Parts: sequence; C-alpha cells; structure tokens
Amino acid sequence: MVSQKALQHAEKCRFCWMCRHLCPVQHQTGKELNTPRAKGLLLSMVSKKSAEFDRDMAQAMYECMLCDACVNDCCTGYQPPLFIREARTEAVVNELAPEAVMQLIENVETSGNIYGTVKPSFAREGTDVLVYIGEVAACKVSGMAKALLNILEKTGIRAKVLDNEPASGAMLADLMGYVEEVTQQASACADAINAAKLPTVVVLDSYDAEIMKQRYAEWGCEIKAEVVTATAYVAKLLEEGKLAPKSKKRGSGVCHDDDRLARSFYEFAPVRAMAKAAGFDLAEMFNRERLAKSCGSAVALGYMPEITIKVAGGRWQDMIRTDAKAMLVANPQAYLCLSQCVPAEKELVDLFTALDESL
Ligand code: SF4
Ligand code: SF4
Repeated sequence: MVSQKALQHAEKCRFCWMCRHLCPVQHQTGKELNTPRAKGLLLSMVSKKSAEFDRDMAQAMYECMLCDACVNDCCTGYQPPLFIREARTEAVVNELAPEAVMQLIENVETSGNIYGTVKPSFAREGTDVLVYIGEVAACKVSGMAKALLNILEKTGIRAKVLDNEPASGAMLADLMGYVEEVTQQASACADAINAAKLPTVVVLDSYDAEIMKQRYAEWGCEIKAEVVTATAYVAKLLEEGKLAPKSKKRGSGVCHDDDRLARSFYEFAPVRAMAKAAGFDLAEMFNRERLAKSCGSAVALGYMPEITIKVAGGRWQDMIRTDAKAMLVANPQAYLCLSQCVPAEKELVDLFTALDESL
C-alpha cells in the first residue's frame, strides 16, 4: 500500500522507541498508538497481511502534526512522516480518512483553501519583491500579513501581492500526501509567481516556503525567483540598518521556533533578531530551535481541534516554565494554534505586528 521506501522506514521504526518522548501528540494524548513506532508497526502489519488498513488505522495516521521532531532526533536517519504521509494518501484514496479531513479536502477543491471561503485579497502592485501571503494568514491571521506589508512599505520596498494568490500545495500535501493534485497546485503557483518576473519572493508562512523551496524543483515546477522566508528577509533589513525601530522596552519573551523553520530550514536567528528589535528581552524555552516542540498546525487544527489545542497547550506549558511574559511568534499557523489557549497573565505576540508598531 505504501512505497517500498516508506515501508523500509516503517519496518525500522516499528522496533524502536528512541524518539517517542519527543512526539507532541503522544505527550498530549498519552496513547501508545501515537508514537512513531506504533504507526510503523501498523503499516508493517498491513504489509504482512496480518491486519487490514481500516478507519481506525487511518485515524491514527492523522493524529500526527508532521512536525519532524522524530526525524530530527533519529540518529539512523528514519523518517516517520514519510510513511505517515503515504498512509494518508491510502486513506483518502480508499475513503477511510476521517470525515473532518475529507471536509477540508473538499474545501480546497471548491474554494482553493482549507477554510472553504473566499480568500481575502491583499493584492497590490509593486516592482521590488513579490510577497506570498498564504491562506492561513489571509483567512485567519490577517494582522500578521498587514504588518509584514507595512514593514516593507516603511522601508521603501515596493511589494507586489498577487490577485487571486494560488495555493502552494502545502495544505493539501499535509492532508493527503504528495499526490498529483498537490503537484498541480504547485505548478499553478510556480507559474503565477514566475509570471510576476520579480527577483525575490518573500514567503510569510514557512509551510508554504518549505514546499516551494524543497519540493517544487523535484516536480519540475521550479520558482525562478529567490524564495526567502519573511523572517529571514526582515532580519536582513534590520541587519543592513534599513529598519530603525524606536527603542521601546516590552518586557520578557520567548521565541517559538515553528516546525518548518526549525526543522526544514534550521532558521533560528531571524525571529530572535526581530524580537530584540521590537524591544523584547529574550529568554529561552528548554525545547527550542531544532528541538522545539510543535504547537500544532492550521491543517491539524481544522480536522482535530481538540488534540491540536492540547498540543498548543503543551507548548504554553514550556513557556510557563520560563520567567517570560510573552510567547513570540512569526508564523501564522503557530499564532493561530497558540491563540486558542493563551494562559492567564501571558501574552501571545505576533512579531511582525510588534516590529511594525516599533517603527
Ligand atoms: S524515527 Fe528513528 S528514533 Fe524514531 S522510531 Fe523511527 S528509527 Fe526510532
Ligand atoms: S512528525 Fe511529530 S507528531 Fe508526527 S510522529 Fe513525528 S514527532 Fe510525532
């Protein structure tokens, strides 16, 4: 049912418990089924015909944030998300995926985004860079998108945003694996970005940046412009002295490293540079940078809100163990998940907005 490569990874993981302590879903659900090992064991049993891939197994494959914490920890190079994604494809193809997942897929098919709504437009003409907003920021965390555009404007950078910005494929890939529908979305997105003929694409959501930078080329739909995360782009403007934040003390904060910045890009310094420029004194959580614990994703929040809010709560617990007052976030999906359960007397801060306010 899954590829030989994915099965090889599942066969190795099924004997191993070495990364179970890092899985944020296992932490919050306490279910053995939610260790990477157990998911490998399920697929191994299916391949040996000692069990059928059924709805319960499909459900288990969706109880995962695709956060890569297990991959990062694996000293033998095995990758549970590889077989988990392929199992999701199998679940969708065989109509075994949870109803809530199928609803999100239907939303993507009918509206182009997981929310099933008309995506708000941030379209503008500009000749310096193209900004890719992404559906989570556009639909749910619009303040972050507006703040990024304000920052660029205050720097004198003329930013273009596409009208009818196409989906990158990142959401659909998390819902159903790297299937043809995803590569079609990727191809349409790359075409739209290439048609803008601008040298740089500044991507607000690291989930979109990850698929654009790390998948498009292998699908033959490479983006010709340089793809840069918005955090790296803004941090470079700060480093070059093109942004001059007023000195304003905002108290102590901890930066949350979102899953894909942390483990796909190993990008940690830019969010901290933004936080310092916005006036925060930085503390650090124990699980940070490559070891950062996931706080959930927008897709997971869409199909399993209860578990995702628990996972976000687990990240707040990490923060509460520090002396910091504020959780500092520069990713729309992380902001959305963490905003579901902000503890009393703590603050969730969008770093783009905080920096914009300090300019
Ligand atoms: S990813 Fe590595 S550490 Fe985790 S279960 Fe698989 S083999 Fe073990
Ligand atoms: S990708 Fe993250 S959520 Fe999924 S099994 Fe690995 S550690 Fe757990």
